[in-house]
Amino acid sequence: MTSLAQATDTASRNGRLSACPDGVPFCTGDPETHADPREHIHRGPERSLNRADGTPVLTYQVEQWDDDAPEVTIGDADKPGLDSAAVTALADEMIRFAAGLRADAQLVADLSAARDAGDEAVPYILTPGAVAVLAEPEPRSFTINVQERDGGGIHTERCPRWCTSDHQADRDSEHGTFLCDIWHQADEVGLPMRISEGLDTHEDQVLVARLGAIPYTSNPKALVPHVNVELVAGTDMWVDEMGPQAFAAFIDSLAGHVERLRGVHAQLVQACAEWEAER
Ligand SMILES: [Zn+2]
Ligand SMILES: [Zn+2]
Repeated sequence: MTSLAQATDTASRNGRLSACPDGVPFCTGDPETHADPREHIHRGPERSLNRADGTPVLTYQVEQWDDDAPEVTIGDADKPGLDSAAVTALADEMIRFAAGLRADAQLVADLSAARDAGDEAVPYILTPGAVAVLAEPEPRSFTINVQERDGGGIHTERCPRWCTSDHQADRDSEHGTFLCDIWHQADEVGLPMRISEGLDTHEDQVLVARLGAIPYTSNPKALVPHVNVELVAGTDMWVDEMGPQAFAAFIDSLAGHVERLRGVHAQLVQACAEWEAER
């Protein structure tokens, strides 16, 4: 399914070694769009959102007419219709496509800012738009006594940069620590909410997300950096071990849910108005 997609991605990365006679960094230097001596149309590689059979559904290009500001141009077409499985595959493909589109939004912003400042054009590099906050500039490490049943001895573990755990429990364990219990974790991110439970009302965190990695586990999903989301803090109900793509899909489903909540809100406003009118 990704052969065409990979081809367009490869082409866009190679775009930085562009053959553009004017040295426009993203331009592929297509001779046809540079033939007119009065007007050069600089185009980046066409990037496409593809169906599983490779048919492009939606395409875009970064484009610049002569010395005008660079822009993103988008075109679309899709026939025949898709069944449920094909739509699911397309939804996954859209996540990949959106990442490229977001990176190119940044490219256009960077090129425009460089023009305004009269600077050298920035190189064409795909960068994710999101900003990652790293906890510690220096890698940290700690030493544990390994459980006898796990081979015993001393083990020095180096934390990834995002880990904010002090690993106190691992270091203090009287009988030593199992290697598979070492769990690197970033700070949790929760949404505070008033929650009623019977007659008791208290504030708690919901949808608590945490980046983690368990380097010696036998679970391949937990071995690599992943995000867990606890539905309500302390209730031990989780959406487990999401990688970047699964977590992006999780976030998108929440964003979709927010739109449905707005629909419920509109119903509420209507219901209140009718209730007032009938009093
Ligand atoms: Zn060009
Ligand atoms: Zn750690």
